Amino acid sequence: MKDNQQRSRPGGLQSAHETSEPTSLREPEVTGRDSLRLLLIEDSADDADLIVRELSRGGYRVSPERVDTRDALACALGRQTWDVAIADFTMPGFSGTAALALVREYDAEMPVIFVSGTIGDDAAVMAMRSGAQDYLMKGNLKRLAPAVERELRDAVARRSRRKAEAQLAHLAYHDALTDLPNRVLLNDRLRQAMLAAERNRESLALMVLDLDGFKAINDSLGHYAGDRMLQQVASRLRSLLRDVDTVARLGGDEFAFVLPRTDLEGAVLAARKILTEVRRPHVLEGHPSSVGGSVGIVCFPEHGTSPELLLQKADIAMYAAKSGGLGYAAYDPDRDRHKHGRLTLMVELREAIEGGQFTFDYQPIVDLKTGRPLCVEALARWDHPRRGRLPPGEFIGFAEQSWLIEPLTMMLLDKALAEWGALDPSRTVPVAANLSPRTLHDPDFPDRLADLLRLCAAPPSALVLEVTENVLASDTARVTRCLSRLHAMGITIAIDDFGIGYSSLGYLKRLPVDQLKIDRSFAGELSSGDDAIVRFTVDLAHNLGLTVVAEGVESAESWDRLRQLGCDAAQGGFIASPASAAETRRWVAQRDAKDLP
Ligand code: C2E
Ligand code: CA
Ligand code: CA
Repeated sequence: MKDNQQRSRPGGLQSAHETSEPTSLREPEVTGRDSLRLLLIEDSADDADLIVRELSRGGYRVSPERVDTRDALACALGRQTWDVAIADFTMPGFSGTAALALVREYDAEMPVIFVSGTIGDDAAVMAMRSGAQDYLMKGNLKRLAPAVERELRDAVARRSRRKAEAQLAHLAYHDALTDLPNRVLLNDRLRQAMLAAERNRESLALMVLDLDGFKAINDSLGHYAGDRMLQQVASRLRSLLRDVDTVARLGGDEFAFVLPRTDLEGAVLAARKILTEVRRPHVLEGHPSSVGGSVGIVCFPEHGTSPELLLQKADIAMYAAKSGGLGYAAYDPDRDRHKHGRLTLMVELREAIEGGQFTFDYQPIVDLKTGRPLCVEALARWDHPRRGRLPPGEFIGFAEQSWLIEPLTMMLLDKALAEWGALDPSRTVPVAANLSPRTLHDPDFPDRLADLLRLCAAPPSALVLEVTENVLASDTARVTRCLSRLHAMGITIAIDDFGIGYSSLGYLKRLPVDQLKIDRSFAGELSSGDDAIVRFTVDLAHNLGLTVVAEGVESAESWDRLRQLGCDAAQGGFIASPASAAETRRWVAQRDAKDLP
């Protein structure tokens, strides 16, 4: 048998490392390459020579290597890439189709052309079906050079198409900003990891990380810096964890980790490392910046048996981590049960915002001297499909802990402004809306509100914004800027629940505030001992040019007392309880018509 290179005849084509230049050195006309890296799968050195000569005649400078065993072929394919393979179809001990299959394992696009003395029609069909590009008869090699030229061109086209497809496929499974796996790929990896863990009776940890303070960076340094921050966090996380771990970006500032062969104890260690890495200072646009994070941990199989369930519970644990002090928390089924399914609430709240399940009750605020309505306060209600009508205490606080407060606030403001005209036929009574503290940390809020006013065709005087006093104590520079812009737009600003929060009154001087609403614990029924406080507050407010509203007025006695103490306006059950838009409209119309008090 003459089926290995060592025994190739002298003068015939040797294996690549021993070969000298082939006979013709004409410059290539068809390829721009220096030489054609040609892999010859051919047991006959003479036939190989013929092929090289034919290609040289066709203008190629050929760097050939001849192999005629499976091992030699595998070795040649593993060592370098080749431009084209030309294979004998029938060799002793090694078939052309086997050679082709092996080539395809290494290179899906490399042109393979069969050249054979014996190929019959059936064999030719088989060869083409199995992925060969062309076949030629040994007796008719004139077609060879044009065939190679064509196949090289096609291979270039195939390769670039394949590359484009690969890029698209990559994008479908990766996050474009950080190049980390996205949610789709995470789900897949998680599913695989769960199957492996089940097979090997091992534990598996899934963790969700949410950055704390990321929004502030986006807001203060801009989205470009925010993107850089996310990329930095992503690469830190990637290099921190093991190669077998998956680090994915779920979207926004949320990341997830799949840690195979990890139990709760291991996951806690990993969570601590992650938090340390995340908290290490970053440099953005030359500024040192920092973010924090909260990690929720779940383990498989303890906490769930589907990827969806595990991710949901990791989310719940992450929220628990936000309220706990450690920065991380493992899923706790008891806590979850007590919390009435925060997750369900979150999903439902999201749907409610989209589906418009919110309405307002309105409560008038009246002038204490004339009894006429000065304003109506919009109090949000959630018409929950199963639990009925929910007061704000059941959902505002929860929304504030998640990003949902932002869309909820805008949706409610939109609704309040849309209803404003209908509440008061004279269109002179403004509507008061409650703002979550977080809203004033958003520098885009004034612009968005201006857009909303335009869309609702409502003047800025139609709106009173109520903010609680503790918001003013935090991050004053940013909040002041936001309030000043709102005030400059012509919107009335009221301090809500005044008296129960921040103790210093100094900030009132600096802030563009129009109104103080004294909390019902001072102004309301049970507070007759607090007259001194109320009087002091009223005097101070009047000195600063503010209007004073007393909250929680439930009786005629309170009404008289607050009037004597100098309050300007009042709100409470004695005047009117919160009621639907239609009832409030009737109430306002009647009040306006009556002589009061
Ligand atoms: P708040 O701004 O202090 O609103 C007044 C609350 O006191 C309302 O409760 C109202 O129904 C209740 N109230 C009115 N008159 C009386 C009275 O004479 N006696 C007593 N004991 N209570 C009275 P509600 O509607 O449950 O709202 C609770 C809180 O929820 C509000 O307190 C406000 O801080 C918040 N809230 C309401 N709507 C919204 C909203 O659209 N967005 C935001 N962020 N918060 C809202
Ligand atoms: Ca209020
Ligand atoms: Ca209040």
